[in-house]
Amino acid sequence: MDCLFCKIINGDIPCSKVYEDDKVLAFNDIEPQAPVHILIIPKEHIKSAAEIDESNSVLIAHVFEVASKIAKDMKLDGFRIVNNCGDCAGQTVKHIHFHLMSGREFTWPAG
Ligand code: AMP
Ligand code: ZN
Repeated sequence: MDCLFCKIINGDIPCSKVYEDDKVLAFNDIEPQAPVHILIIPKEHIKSAAEIDESNSVLIAHVFEVASKIAKDMKLDGFRIVNNCGDCAGQTVKHIHFHLMSGREFTWPAG
């Protein structure tokens, strides 16, 4: 499958790894939009948040456990988790991923 993030998971493309276990990988975004900008992805190829269902929701819950663990380990003083789902939301990589961002002020509502 021609998927950038599957290639990173397989080690075919390098990444700056932050966390890994048997189900999840987290690595620094190559084009950070905040001082801390980490992508957290399940190792299973799920295209987007629109594909979350009862068959994979436990895995997605684990992604959020990992986000919380990373935030604690890095002593983040607040953070934002972003998921872009679909073209209109700006999803460029079609392997579900969650942006964990911190280290600056974030505006709300998001643009
Ligand atoms: P999205 O626009 O929500 O699909 O997010 C995709 C993210 O992947 C962007 O923030 C990119 O900067 C990031 N990205 C693309 N290629 C790489 C890579 N090789 N290593 C790390 N992050 C990447
Ligand atoms: Zn993939």
